[in-house]
Amino acid sequence: MSLTLKVFLESASGSNEIRRFPLNTTAGTDFFTAAKEKIRQLYPALAHGHFSLYWQDPDGDRVAFSSTEEMKDAMAHVSDGVLRVYIPEPMETGETPVKSQQEQKPSDKPKPQPQPQEPSHSQPQGPKPASHSQGQNTESNGQVHVGVTCDGCEGPVIGIRYKCCVCPDFDLCQTCEGKGLHTEHDMFKITQPRVNPLNFLPPHLGRYINRYMREMAPGASSSSSSPNSGPNGGADSQ
Ligand SMILES: [Zn+2]
Ligand SMILES: [Zn+2]
Repeated sequence: MSLTLKVFLESASGSNEIRRFPLNTTAGTDFFTAAKEKIRQLYPALAHGHFSLYWQDPDGDRVAFSSTEEMKDAMAHVSDGVLRVYIPEPMETGETPVKSQQEQKPSDKPKPQPQPQEPSHSQPQGPKPASHSQGQNTESNGQVHVGVTCDGCEGPVIGIRYKCCVCPDFDLCQTCEGKGLHTEHDMFKITQPRVNPLNFLPPHLGRYINRYMREMAPGASSSSSSPNSGPNGGADSQ
């Protein structure tokens, strides 16, 4: 027994791709499976995945069939030797999966989160410039001690002024102090000019110096704060 299958592949757009092929429907053979394999070969859209076959009964209803027994029932209603098979184009084959992915993309893809533009770390600040005020009290200052004369070289005292703790008016410049002059007395190291050297002395030593100056120079005013104004007649003066 020979049967012709007329297959309608019904796409979603409404257009049908129609194929006809003969089918050997010898009794005892699984010709439903043979028909389905033949359809799968004819339609690339059905090459992969599952698809269903339908026939239209006398009531006009689409009846699915998935076995040879069901197909025999459909063949029983064939009058012209042609079995019309209707196959809705499955959504899982062909380009459909790509289309479904495109449809899911807007909802599946997480919305891009705005990236914070704030700096995550602060640049370390550069080292602060060295304070120039640190050099005021150093010998590199070079300030001139006005009215002070070095008792070693008879020159002006520039930079560090060394004043004897005992002698009322004895000063050395930095160079002469470095030569080891007047080592018999302790020396004050004065870096700021125009400062009353008595302010560097302990109170009792200052009073002693003032009394000593009055004894050595009776005519001089004891209220004078500058020993430079007094006579340079100290016994220890060189
Ligand atoms: Zn000197
Ligand atoms: Zn001295």
